[in-house]
Order: sequence, then C-alpha cells, then structure tokens
Amino acid sequence: MISVEEAWQKIADSASPLESEWVSLAELENRTAILAEPVIAPICLPPFDNSAMDGYALNSAATQSATEEQPTVLSVQGEMAAGDAPNKSLSSGTAMQIMTGAAVPEGADAVLALEEGRLRNGHVEIRQPVSVGKHIRKRGEDVQQGAVLLEAGRRLNAQTLSLLSNSGVAKVKAYRQPRVSVLATGSELLPVGETWVPGKIFDSNRIALKRLLASSDSLVTDAGIVADDPVAIKQAIEQQRDADVILLSGGVSVGSHDYVKDVLKDLGMETVFWRVKMKPGKPLLCGRLGKTWVFGLPGNPISCVVGYVVFIEPLLRRMQGELDAALRVNKAQLTQDIIPKGDRRHYRTAWLEPSDQGVMQVTPTAKQGSAMMHSLAAANSFLVVPEEASVMNAGDLVDVLPFRG
Ligand code: AMP
Ligand code: MG
Repeated sequence: MISVEEAWQKIADSASPLESEWVSLAELENRTAILAEPVIAPICLPPFDNSAMDGYALNSAATQSATEEQPTVLSVQGEMAAGDAPNKSLSSGTAMQIMTGAAVPEGADAVLALEEGRLRNGHVEIRQPVSVGKHIRKRGEDVQQGAVLLEAGRRLNAQTLSLLSNSGVAKVKAYRQPRVSVLATGSELLPVGETWVPGKIFDSNRIALKRLLASSDSLVTDAGIVADDPVAIKQAIEQQRDADVILLSGGVSVGSHDYVKDVLKDLGMETVFWRVKMKPGKPLLCGRLGKTWVFGLPGNPISCVVGYVVFIEPLLRRMQGELDAALRVNKAQLTQDIIPKGDRRHYRTAWLEPSDQGVMQVTPTAKQGSAMMHSLAAANSFLVVPEEASVMNAGDLVDVLPFRG
C-alpha cells in the first residue's frame, strides 16, 4: 500500500492542464479560471493625466511666490469634469476647476485641492507654492501600454478582473473547466425523495461530491445511481467517456459485489494506484481511461469526502492550470489531547475556528468513523493525524484540511 504522498505524486506526475479557450470577462463574474497566456496591456493606466482630487488645475510656476501674507490670486476660468474630452487649455495666469478623474487641461501641471484654496469672487487664493505634478495621476504611472499586464498562470478573481476590465480587456485565454461526472454505485442506494424500504439507504455521496465540486469551477454531470451489476456499471461509465474526470463511489473494496475495479480494467483502465495508507478512505482507486481520470471512491460517506478533498481537489486545480497545486494543509492549534492509533494517516472530522484571540484552533468531532454522518455534518475540516504520531497534545500545531465551499 502506498502513502498519501506517494499516491499524490503518481497523480501529479501525469496531471497536465486542459486546453485553453477564450473566455469573456462577463463569464468570469460567476466563476474563476487561470490565465493560459499572458495579457499585454492594450492601453496605459491611467490612460491620460488626470486629477486625483477635486480642486483647481493650475500652472505650478505661477504659485512659487505664494505665502500666507501674500497669496497668489488666480482667476478661475472654466471647468473640467470627469468624462469631459481633454480639449480645453489653461490661459496663463488662471486656474480651472477640476473634478477627480477629469483630464488635466493643457497648460496645467498641478492641482490644488479644493480645501487648500480659498475661492473669492471668482478667484482662488493660494497660500503656498504648489509643486509640479501635485495631485496629478500621470498617464501610464500604473501600467505602460505594451507591458505584461498579467502573466500566464494568474488566477482570474475580483482583483485581476478589475485590472483587466480597467484596461479594456474583454476576453482572455484561460484553461477550460474540467468536465466531471459523478456516479454512485450500490444496490442498496435509493435516491432521496423515494420511499425508504428495508435494506436500502439513501444515497448521500452524489450530493456531497456535487456540492464540493460546485466550488471547484468544474462542469458537473450527475450520472445517477447504478446497482452493483457489472453490466450496468460498465454501461454507466461508457456514457461518461467524454468526461475529464469520472468520480464513482462505492464498490471498490474487496467484497464479492465490488465490481468497479474489474469493470474499469475491462474497459482498459490503467491503474495509477489502488489502496492508500489512509483512514478512512483506504480502498481508493485511481486510474486512467485514455485521457479520462477515473476515481473509485469508497462508498462510506466520510471516506468519499476525504478522497475528494485530499486528491481530487488538487488534481482539478492542476487541470485548471494551477501547475503547482498539491496536497493542501493548513495549520491550527489542537484544543485537546489525541491518542493516535494505527499506522495509517488518519483524517478525523473536526471543527476549525478562530479563538477569541484570532488563532485558528481545531477540535475533533465527538465521534469518529467512516460512516458517522452526524460527525461529518458537525465538521468543517479534517484534522490530519500523521502515520508516525504517537501522541498529540492540546496546544500542538497540527495539520488541518478545511472543506471548501
Ligand atoms: P462500499 O464502498 O460499496 O463497500 O460501501 C461502503 C459503505 O458505504 C456501505 O455501507 C454502503 O452502503 C455505503 N455507501 C455506499 N455508497 C453510498 C452512497 N452513495 N451514499 C451513502 N452511503 C453509501
Ligand atoms: Mg457496496
């Protein structure tokens, strides 16, 4: 059996980003993506010299002798408002009213803030020299036209979209979203909404996976529920062959009705790994069907979520162009002693929250077990108990894996 790190390394070794495509900025309002190519600045930012304040545009030279006792007095003529075409010029010995964001008129090289000048009878009194460039945002001081605005690999989020939009960039080349299909296997499974009958349980893995996937920027297909029947499983998988990733739950262990692995092998799957030294989630299967990644996640609901959070989430990030995405861990302070048992890495359902002092703290849920649904519902993270740990004490800094979304 391989360790979590070895398993991830096998995934990472053959994970490559999907193709790129043109994506409009409007589309990115509701999802994120990663730039596949750099964006070159089509215009300067700011695009023209403009005022950083409401005030008076003037020629600084005219103010150099201004003092408290002998203010410079300039006649205020005209106005530049934000949005006005920059076709006005300053007559010598005058000032012009100017608004924040308005173009600086020709002949002006500084702005006196409104509250720094005193307006009287159409004239502004200036009581100290105004330096060249004061309160002017120079064309290109932020971004030069032709410079790299954003490098390939940058994530398209509120901050970078703001920069692109401000530069007039309406579409970008970004990695496409992975198509992910979710299929639950198990003859005991009933879709929620049906009437319960003895021997059956309601399926929870599909909704858990779909909800987790919802914050992964993937295109998700619900492939439904299929019984523990090799023919039916095969058919269901074949219908999802266009997917980039197929997530199956259940039927990957060693029971006589666990057909998923054999069916996948029949279909030509190359096994990447099967069984990982982790708890829960040991019988996890990872393989490739051509270009498609297939995962057989153990049916136990917590094992299924662990498998997703540990391996599939970083894989999806790599496919989306986050080339260095890897096993994710955060650190938090443990609130109670733990006695680890066993030699597998243990992912315990846990609650992560900041203390009153703002320090992240983690507390395992009361009950642990791969089918403890109530503990899963009470958790927002997994606490990672390393293989080699003999004792973990309250106050220790430990690894945690918060759930996203
Ligand atoms: P398996 O991995 O098929 O051996 O299933 C392990 C356990 O998980 C069994 O108790 C199953 O009934 C349960 N299980 C399998 N699939 C699901 C599912 N989709 N939702 C909830 N429980 C499941
Ligand atoms: Mg089963």
